[in-house]
Amino acid sequence: MKRVAVLTSGGDAPGMNAAIRAVVRAGIGAGFEMFGVKRGYAGLLEGAFLRLDPRSVGGIIHAGGTMLGSARSPEFETSAGRHVALTRLEEKKIEALVVIGGSGSQRGAHELARLDFPVIGIASTIDNDLYGTEMAIGVDTALNIALEAMDRLRTTASSMERAFLVEVMGRDCGYLALMTGIAGGAEIVAIPEVETTPEEIARAFADANQRGKLHALAIVAEGCRYNAQKIANYFAEHEKRIGFELRVTILGHVQRGGVPTAFDRLLATRSGVAAIDQLVQGKHGVLIGLRHGEIAATPLDQVAGMKNPLDLQFLELARVLAQ
Ligand code: ADP
Repeated sequence: MKRVAVLTSGGDAPGMNAAIRAVVRAGIGAGFEMFGVKRGYAGLLEGAFLRLDPRSVGGIIHAGGTMLGSARSPEFETSAGRHVALTRLEEKKIEALVVIGGSGSQRGAHELARLDFPVIGIASTIDNDLYGTEMAIGVDTALNIALEAMDRLRTTASSMERAFLVEVMGRDCGYLALMTGIAGGAEIVAIPEVETTPEEIARAFADANQRGKLHALAIVAEGCRYNAQKIANYFAEHEKRIGFELRVTILGHVQRGGVPTAFDRLLATRSGVAAIDQLVQGKHGVLIGLRHGEIAATPLDQVAGMKNPLDLQFLELARVLAQ
């Protein structure tokens, strides 16, 4: 019987639990013995394995976060660290590892695969920067949370005739910011891929005021050279007249918590089952993600060297719709 372990790594994302559950139950269904690893690669280096049966993953499909815990491990980024990880896997007689995580975690998975260890990645990050998947597990939930926050901010902004700089997560990828801006009707969206100056944001606010809008919302991705606070500081230093009183809201980790949406639960469940399916077929060294609406496997060596390109036509769309 094959012994298979699963871990969650890097930034946690809503839907990781649903993926763990699917991997464990599909794995047991396929006749594997299933193990979890606590705290990602950090736990792997410590040999923090636990046996998982179908009941151990009960009651978690609706819960955000990850029951296995997640962590960042600088040691795993060294060759020596990865050899310790291999030793821990061999000691426990684990024959394959499923890594649920984002771009950094999948680079780690690729390094393990290069050492000839069978690994399957499952795409899960709210940043949506992973090559090989249109939507990673967690993106839809994070987007809905950011959108709900934006709707609430608009209500108060409108009543008080204020402008808001709303900073959303996504590291150096503008996907979450851009989609939140479009779906939420922002006046302007700033993303790391295309530099937006504080002057341009000031102009967008002032123009919105001139056009008779009672509020103005700018969505700023956290990875922008000018983040929300820097823009606010710039406005203060240069005594910018934007026609509104200004407020800054940084959504931060609020976007990573919460109950996974139906979309994320289904994507996580399908991805977990597909990961086990690959192992049953004797395949590994791939990332499971969503391509053209279908669950698909992409070789990890392609994933590790690439970034999910952001379709900049959406930025133009955001501009046109902000009139
Ligand atoms: P995410 O998976 O959310 O992008 P990180 O970028 O923080 O999160 O990566 C999570 C972990 O993956 C890191 O702490 C490290 O242990 C491992 N990792 C990241 N990059 C590499 C790499 N180039 N080689 C090996 N391991 C890596």
